[in-house]
This record gives sequence, C-alpha cells and structure tokens, in this order.
Amino acid sequence: MKDKLESALAKGRKAAATGKVADYIPELGKADPNALAVACCDMDGQITAAGDTETTITIQSISKVVSLALSMIDCGEKKVFSAVGVDPTADPFNSIMRLEMRAPHRPQNPLINAGAIVVLSLLPYRDSLSRYEAVLDLTKKLCSNHSISSNEAVYLSEKATSDRNRSLAYFLRSVGSLEGDIEDILDSYFHQCAIACTVRDLAVMGATLANSGVNPVSGERVLSPRIALTLRALMAICGLYDGSGEFALRVGIPAKSGVGGGIMASAPGNMGLATVGPSLDPKGNSTGGVRVMEILSDQLGLRVL
Ligand code: GLN
Repeated sequence: MKDKLESALAKGRKAAATGKVADYIPELGKADPNALAVACCDMDGQITAAGDTETTITIQSISKVVSLALSMIDCGEKKVFSAVGVDPTADPFNSIMRLEMRAPHRPQNPLINAGAIVVLSLLPYRDSLSRYEAVLDLTKKLCSNHSISSNEAVYLSEKATSDRNRSLAYFLRSVGSLEGDIEDILDSYFHQCAIACTVRDLAVMGATLANSGVNPVSGERVLSPRIALTLRALMAICGLYDGSGEFALRVGIPAKSGVGGGIMASAPGNMGLATVGPSLDPKGNSTGGVRVMEILSDQLGLRVL
C-alpha cells in the first residue's frame, strides 16, 4: 500500500504545481504550495500515509460535514432538511445568486456556505463558543484524535475579512431563511473552518463514514448508519461544490474538500482516503489531491459512482 501511495503522490506533484494557494483569507496565503500528502485508513483501523504527512491544514469546508452530522443528531433530519435542500448547485461555494432568484429562498444544500451557516443556526447551544466546541468535539471523535484544536490565526483572519459570508447570512435573514444572532452564528462558522488537521486525521474521518459511523481506530460508534449514509450521499453529489460532477467522473467516491487544501473521501465498506495539498484549482479544490485520488481510486478499485 505504501508503494502505491508514494507512486500516486509522485504523479500528483505535477498537478499540484498547476494550482494556487487560496489567499482571500489572508492567513491561508501562507501555506506551502508544494506540500502534498496522502493517507488511507482501512476498516481495521490500519493507517498508511505518504508525503508531507506532518503538514497541518485548516479543514475549512470539510467542517460542514461535521456540523451537518451534529445537526442531524441534535435536531433530527426532518428539521434540518426543511431548512436546507439536498440538491447540487453548479455555482461557486460562496455564491449568493440562487438564494435570491427563486422561492423558497433557502440554501440548496448544507455543503455550500449559505447552507452550512443555516445548519449552524439550528444547533441548540448557548453561544458561538459552545456551538464551536460541540463541532470540535465531534471532529475529535470522527478522527480519533483528542488533541485536535483550531488555528486561531486563520480563524481571526477569516473573521476580519469575510464580507461574503456576512452578506450571505444577512441576506438569508432578510428573506426569513435564517434566525438568531448573525454575528454569533458566523463566529462559530469561522471557528469551525479553522479546525486544524493532518492527512491522517482526515483519512480516519473518511473511514468512520465508510464504516457506517463506527470509528475503525477507536471502535466507538460516533454516528448512526443512517447519518453516515446521508453524509456520504450529500458528499457524492455536492462535496466538491461546482467541481462535484467532474470529481464523480474522475474519482467516483463520496468526498468533501476545503480551501485549506484538504480532501476527505469515503469509499463505503472499504476505506477512508485523504489528501492534503494547498494548491487549488479555480473552484477551490486541491489540484494535487484530486489527481492523487484519481490514480488511487483506479488502482485500488474504490469507485462506487
Ligand atoms: N471558510 C471558507 C469560506 O467560507 C470555507 C470555504 C471552503 O472551504 N470552500 O470561504
């Protein structure tokens, strides 16, 4: 397995060189564009990793999977999916356009920014910090790593600059699709996006989803089989935003990306697969990561779509 990961990684480095590190969140611009790592975790909890495995990235949009899981646990699917839809969009992750164009003005799915902000607003916690801590706690269980914390510099950098997410949230409130203290909800969104992980952590998270909600490293049931399945289905149709269709054709497994450069993928009953590579394509997906996953999906027979 290690040899296969190494060889996919060597090929992926060429693709990584074609991307660009995200800098619309100023602190993310400091990431190493050449870093690339891959890891997999099988259903026995065996982890294999290669490349720049000590690189830590912020999970960014991958956190949307965790807060969605938490909302299903705390509020139930019915409430969650009456507040956000379950359909893909062909628009960028932070697009505002479709929210205005058609009634009901609710976000089309929970994995775009507007949807993730609405999902956070549903959680039954006192304030931003307790909401964030609940998401962090579930992240630790999904990754079987209790030392995970957030990168406070990235959190504060996004909080200081995120006009777009503020616009989305206030617009949603104006059309009656978001209730509560907007700045408080956004604060927990920025904080959860800044949770810092390695490629191993993300591989274990993918494996927990692949193993119907039981973390194969700790043996703990973290999610119900139904929630794990719902997350995988949504990842398959909208996990890479407007790049989800291309990813389905090239790689063919449920996955979620983030602009920190991570991709967390889940091959059901088989393995979690993750890559870290901060160089992104124009849609915000890791160029090296997608290429490495494409090669490995083919070689390891992971495709399910
Ligand atoms: N924090 C980022 C944002 O809201 C997350 C986006 C992403 O990873 N696609 O812009």
